[in-house]
Amino acid sequence: MENNTNQIVPNRKEHDPHMHSAEHILNQTMVRMFQCGRAFSAHIEKKKSKCDYHLERNLTIEEISRIEGTVNDIIKSDLPIREKFLSREEAEKVVSLSKLPQDAGNTVRIIFIGDYDACPCSGIHASSTREIGEFKIISSDWAHDILRIRFKIQ
Ligand SMILES: [Zn+2]
Repeated sequence: MENNTNQIVPNRKEHDPHMHSAEHILNQTMVRMFQCGRAFSAHIEKKKSKCDYHLERNLTIEEISRIEGTVNDIIKSDLPIREKFLSREEAEKVVSLSKLPQDAGNTVRIIFIGDYDACPCSGIHASSTREIGEFKIISSDWAHDILRIRFKIQ
């Protein structure tokens, strides 16, 4: 199959579909709660993962539990996770393509998690959020305006 969807997938080899789907939900949750943008760096593994965000402070205990609650609400809602292939023009109406290389082609694969999240991605995902399991934040560390969230699913 032709691969014209070479998009944003950190460390694809260690790709775990459930963890990676949780990463999409976490990113959208961070965007909505802190307007901080999606993780600029991520390391996704089966057992535990980490995502780095540009944020000017660390999270409070309350915020950590609010993030967990929101992510788990989305998971329990059993939202479908679907891919759609859109033209760049169509895609730009629903997502930012600023991180896509200019030569990524005219068709963009967008991953939709219900109506909660849309993100260009070429990775492998769960088919619905309920498959993911329970999302748990292990820690949040902050230094030099970078917030690192470590998390697992259980
Ligand atoms: Zn993805």
